[in-house]
Amino acid sequence: MNNDKRTLKLNIKGIVQGVGFRPFIYNLAIKNKLVGWVRNSSAGVDIEVSGSKNILDSFIISIKNDAPPLSKIDLIKEDWLEHKYFDSFKIVFSEDDPNAFIPISPDISICEDCLDELFDKDDKRYRYPFINCTNCGPRFTIIESIPYDRPKTTMSTFNLCQYCKDEYTDPTNRRFHAQPVACPECGPQVSFVIDKEIVSEGENALQQAREYIRSGKIVAVKGIGGYHLACDAFDEIAVSNLRERKHRIDKAFAVMSLSADKVKEYGKLGIEEEEYITSRERPIVILDQREDTTLASSISPGQNTVGVMLPYTPLHYLLLEEEDDFPSAIVMTSGNYSEEPIDIDNDAAFDHLGPIADAFLINDRDIYIRCDDSVVQPYNTGKKRAIRVIRRSRGYAPNPINLQWDLPPILAVGPELKNTFCLTRDKYAFVSHHLGNLENYETLSSFESAIEHYERLFRIKTEIITHDLHPDYLSTRYAQDRASAENIELVGIQHHHAHIASCMAENNLPSDSKVLGFSFDGTGYGTDGNIWGGEVLLASYSDYERIGHIRPFSLPGGEKAIKEPWRIAVSLLVESGVDTSKIAQILDSIPESDVEFVLSQLDSDVNCPKTTSLGRLFDGISAILGVSRHVNYEGQAAIEFEELALCDEFRGKNKYLDYGNIYDYTKFVNNFIHFPSFGESKPLISYAFHDSLAQWVSSHAITNESTKSIALSGGVWQNRLLTKLTLSLLSKHDINVFTQTKIPTNDGGISLGQAVAAYHKIK
Ligand code: ZN
Ligand code: ZN
Ligand code: FE
Repeated sequence: MNNDKRTLKLNIKGIVQGVGFRPFIYNLAIKNKLVGWVRNSSAGVDIEVSGSKNILDSFIISIKNDAPPLSKIDLIKEDWLEHKYFDSFKIVFSEDDPNAFIPISPDISICEDCLDELFDKDDKRYRYPFINCTNCGPRFTIIESIPYDRPKTTMSTFNLCQYCKDEYTDPTNRRFHAQPVACPECGPQVSFVIDKEIVSEGENALQQAREYIRSGKIVAVKGIGGYHLACDAFDEIAVSNLRERKHRIDKAFAVMSLSADKVKEYGKLGIEEEEYITSRERPIVILDQREDTTLASSISPGQNTVGVMLPYTPLHYLLLEEEDDFPSAIVMTSGNYSEEPIDIDNDAAFDHLGPIADAFLINDRDIYIRCDDSVVQPYNTGKKRAIRVIRRSRGYAPNPINLQWDLPPILAVGPELKNTFCLTRDKYAFVSHHLGNLENYETLSSFESAIEHYERLFRIKTEIITHDLHPDYLSTRYAQDRASAENIELVGIQHHHAHIASCMAENNLPSDSKVLGFSFDGTGYGTDGNIWGGEVLLASYSDYERIGHIRPFSLPGGEKAIKEPWRIAVSLLVESGVDTSKIAQILDSIPESDVEFVLSQLDSDVNCPKTTSLGRLFDGISAILGVSRHVNYEGQAAIEFEELALCDEFRGKNKYLDYGNIYDYTKFVNNFIHFPSFGESKPLISYAFHDSLAQWVSSHAITNESTKSIALSGGVWQNRLLTKLTLSLLSKHDINVFTQTKIPTNDGGISLGQAVAAYHKIK
């Protein structure tokens, strides 16, 4: 055995600050009787440690294997030095380097240790709704600036009591430098508010909120990333009231239950779903509802799924505490009106949510930046079940995506719907939390301030801005204005190309890769001025060639056709050569004069933009069948249409159709429209439509000679049936198929694609 004394110097990069990393190193060193020091450095954590070679070797292994749960090590640089003498092991402090940056931890759900204390009668923090430690609690949403230290968080207004201070300064304590540390004596408090008046505080406030929920009322609850609106999820009247007041007609509400066991009472929770629902990121998991579910049907109208999450703050655990007459699931939907940002500020929330909520459960810990709940969706890869992120926000953001290249500071501003932006620095791509649809002043200003915040937090001085080609997107205008004001280089990236580049980057494909990309979504600006959305692109990171698409059709009335898919149905039927006299008969629920109007609109080609959008094609086919002729949110018809086909299995009932480079839906429409009883075979037709698209994709993929790599991206791929059918067809061939799982396949992933595509374009 080699007992030579050595000194080991380590530089560790990644999420290693504010997550209990120094106490972990300290305790590890003490346990191994090593001497030296550890400190937070400009770019992570630095360590110098002396001891015998074999102990130092196992010290490194322990760092890699046993690092604290919230930390994420990206790189460990090891240097072996001449032996240095130290008399003990110390945590030392260092100055901030103004250019340095490190990734910041997302907000993470309460840990087991804190949860035990929360319900321990003898603990100082018994039933304290803001209990946390270095392994759990708020991070991203309370940080105002860096270096990450209590004075730079929204906790700065709370002075630590002696008890908390002792824990905070003790390197062996799990609250050592836990910035949000607090107790009932010195920390934030909850209050119950009716008509802007505080009516109770602390435990009483909590119990009053529970009483309100129990009795069918709606309570606005302040959480980690913003307000939620809560009510009894089994109370049909309460849920309908909430819908009406929130102006949200039928987009699904999320619910929260105390535990996985409670969820099983109404939702189907497989192994994969359970793993995600209990993960420390605590996303909303979309579950199939049990056939005997008693959840209010207005929670997710027209769908047999439900989005469910478990509590992630101590407050949630107290709010949902088990009691005979307390509902085992409550609605927890974001505290906003449809398509506006979630409220975070108490006074603004009173004004804004006052008309919706009967009362407020507030607290005095400020939220610095809003962050919506994340959403994940189980799906079937054709071989196995898996989970993918479809809204990447709380718990995930601002974790960076690790790239293989050193990128210059690029700001990718993202698209209009489901907006995220992305900032790059070194090998990191910081994809922002979900910002929503940039359609109004509120979301735009939240977008602008979030960009500023990320630039400050990660000390990024933007040198290049990249944007969507759509000239009217508010994000595009922001990019143009800022680029001209600051004299920054501007790069436009086509929407569907950005989808494919995002998929390539997520899958770490090398720079010289070529893929056949199926970019399927609702809307994206095409280079011919038309609305694209069912595109086959032979693509690299920097460029693409459009080699196939959906046969174009008109959107009579433009935007109007999105809300009223029966208009698209008329267009598709005309395009398919169906006798115009029969169209009103097929669309029998629509007044004949309305159909006549659209027919004449199509005839004169006034306000009839052309599209190859697959999302809109889904809407149109669905409307022909009478599934959804009017919708209240984008993609609703497609969702309800898919649900229809999921009800049954119709394997092998579809005739193979050769659609060529252009997917010609008119052949499909003509296959069923002359069927006198087609109305009764809706599930079969829905299944056949999904199947025909899967066959179109796979025939393209199999016959393409320039690449064996396939990339599937765009919001339409959230359709579980289409994904399953396509992947199982492709799996029979020697083809590499890449999909998106960590980054949303919908427009939430566009910003990452813009960033990597712009980088390769200017390289
Ligand atoms: Zn904890
Ligand atoms: Zn305290
Ligand atoms: Fe898109």
